[in-house]
Amino acid sequence: MAKELSALENLVKHLAALPGFGRRSARRAALHLLLHKDTALTALINTLEAARESIVECPVCGNLDEQSPCSICANTKRPQDILCVVEGVSDIWAVERTQSYNGQYHVLGGVLSPLDGVSPADLRMDSLLMRINEGQFNEVILAMGATVNGQTTAHYLADEILALGRGVKISRLAHGVPVGGELDYLDEGTISTALKSRAAI
Ligand SMILES: [Zn+2]
Repeated sequence: MAKELSALENLVKHLAALPGFGRRSARRAALHLLLHKDTALTALINTLEAARESIVECPVCGNLDEQSPCSICANTKRPQDILCVVEGVSDIWAVERTQSYNGQYHVLGGVLSPLDGVSPADLRMDSLLMRINEGQFNEVILAMGATVNGQTTAHYLADEILALGRGVKISRLAHGVPVGGELDYLDEGTISTALKSRAAI
């Protein structure tokens, strides 16, 4: 029988399982919490419980919010005719931070990945196609990451959306030289994509 973990080992194990946490940072965080039981640890426990109780997944777009539908879907001032499809909720936050897009969103919950066994049924694709088929969108932006799986997913979705026959404009994010980026520091894939999607001056 495996030896039972001590409370401390268990805490480190659960912290280390969080994205962005390694064993080392998990140990440091655990120590910090235990040294500040009445302040940091108690506040964290209360915050986690409040989040568990109040934050829900939006049934329309997949965003996380305290209201359902989420505040973006419920905001009637936002244009209703443009939809931005993203991989995850954090991508909504990233696009919102730019303040350069004001339309609707749809979270896929990942990308197609045959190696990891992620198929269309594992993603929120049916609800996406259903939303598009309802006919309110003139344009769908496929804002997947510039990874092989991201681009495969975008191509797959573009085919599925075309097959709906609704005449919706399908676009994707331009990939290219990052603002402030020097060519010398970029990988060949980025430069080659930037060349292909070059724009007239
Ligand atoms: Zn929503």
